[in-house]
Amino acid sequence: MPISRKDLADAGSPEALVKRILKAEPNLPVPVPIQELCVSLGIVKTADFDTEEFEGGLVTDAKRSEGTILVKRGGEPRRRFTIAHELGHFLMAHHVPDQPGGFLCKSSDLLRVQAKEGDQRQRREVEANRFAALVLMPPHLLRGAMAAFREPNLQHVLTLARDFAVGRETAARAYVQYHPERIAIVVAGNGRVQRCYRSLSFPAIVCAVGSPVPTGSLYHRSSHRPNIASDIAVCSPDLWIDVKRDLRAPALYEQIYCQQNGFSMILLCLEPVPEDSAEERKLEEGWRYRFHSGRR
Ligand SMILES: [Zn+2]
Repeated sequence: MPISRKDLADAGSPEALVKRILKAEPNLPVPVPIQELCVSLGIVKTADFDTEEFEGGLVTDAKRSEGTILVKRGGEPRRRFTIAHELGHFLMAHHVPDQPGGFLCKSSDLLRVQAKEGDQRQRREVEANRFAALVLMPPHLLRGAMAAFREPNLQHVLTLARDFAVGRETAARAYVQYHPERIAIVVAGNGRVQRCYRSLSFPAIVCAVGSPVPTGSLYHRSSHRPNIASDIAVCSPDLWIDVKRDLRAPALYEQIYCQQNGFSMILLCLEPVPEDSAEERKLEEGWRYRFHSGRR
C-alpha cells in the first residue's frame, strides 16, 4: 500500500483522517484491508491479547513513533473493528492514554457512541469508534452498496455485515444512518433492550435500556427461526414511540432477527409521511409553537 502517515498531514478528527486515507488510497477494496493499512501507517505489530477484561489495546508513546495493537481472540469482524479502533487512537495525536505507554479498551468502550459532556476519556472512545466505522465502511462505498436496497429490511444489514466484514451491530448502525427512510434498529440481548440506533428523523424510543422488549412486539409473537430475518409486520406504534394524542398515529412496522446466543435486532420502520400531510403537520406545529411561545 503506497499510503504513509505523511498523507494524513495534520488531520485530527476521524472524518478528516478517513478523508485523507481515501484520497491516498482511492481504490480501497471491500472488505477494507485494515491490517495492511495499519502496517503502512506505523503499526509494527498486531498481537493476540490474552485477557478477559479488555477487548483491545495499543502500546505506543506520546510521539507515536510506532505502535503495537493488541486484540482479543475472537471472530474476525469483531477483531477488525477493534484493530480499526486502536488505529484510530494511534492516529489521533490528541488522544492521551490514561496511563503512559498505551491504551486499554473494554468492550463497553468499543460500543460507545455518545460521551458525557466533559468526559475526555469517553470522548476519545467515541472518536475511535467513529474512525473505525468510517474506515471499515467508507461512506462512498457504503452509499454504493446501499443504492441496491429499497424498502428497509434487516436482510440488507446482514448483507452489509458480510460484504464489509464487520459485525452486525456495526452494519446496523451504518444502515440506520444512511437509509433515507425513518427507521431505527433496537439491539436486544436475552429479551432486554440493550441499544437503540435511530435515523435522524425517527422519534425517541420510549423503552429504556435494560427494560424487556415490550410484550406486544412481534419479537414475542412467534418462534423466530435463528439467523433468518422475519417477515415485516405492522405493530402498535406506542410500543416503541410516544404517540401524541392530538396527532394521527403513524403506522409502525417491525421485523425481527434473532441469533441462538440471545442477540437480536428489531427493525422499526415508520411509514413515510405523505407530502401534503407533512406540510399540514409543519403548519400545525408552527401554530403550536407560536401559541406556546406567545409569539404572533
Ligand atoms: Zn479505545
